[in-house]
Amino acid sequence: MRQLDLFEPLEIPLPKVDPNMTLDEAQTLVLDSVVEGSFCPCCGQRVQVYQRKFNANFATFLISLVMRSKERGWDWVHYSDCQFKGRDYPYIKVWGLAITAENDDTRKRSSGLWKPTERGVAFVNGTVRLHRYAMMYDNKLCGYSKDTIHIWDALGSRFDYDEMMRSWR
Ligand SMILES: [Zn+2]
Repeated sequence: MRQLDLFEPLEIPLPKVDPNMTLDEAQTLVLDSVVEGSFCPCCGQRVQVYQRKFNANFATFLISLVMRSKERGWDWVHYSDCQFKGRDYPYIKVWGLAITAENDDTRKRSSGLWKPTERGVAFVNGTVRLHRYAMMYDNKLCGYSKDTIHIWDALGSRFDYDEMMRSWR
């Protein structure tokens, strides 16, 4: 039985398609307007490149991860031993700042184990700058902003970088 047979009569509001437009032309149309946002001429869904900003929560999580991992001879650290406010911190992987361990337990989606990369450690130490935004399409990385930041820019005025580093040492 088709899934649709389970529903009361309904219509999926697909856009009207130009019968002369090729799939290639449709993709070009999407690409031309994907940064400012548009609608797919085939399925009608919104298509947009989204800018994800490197935020204070990412910085706090990364700093605590670096400190914890360092304490343990650069071993894996469970996320629950790190500091964070929101659960958006896994995005730090998009900037190449940390990696997660493969999961042995297939019933769980992730191992919850984290380790900073060399780049992540350098960013926390303030020796490298980072792109302020990661450009995402369909939740996949598709580029970075030219604009860059230091770790203390990411923490913002609510946090004192020096104080935070001292308290973790
Ligand atoms: Zn589509």
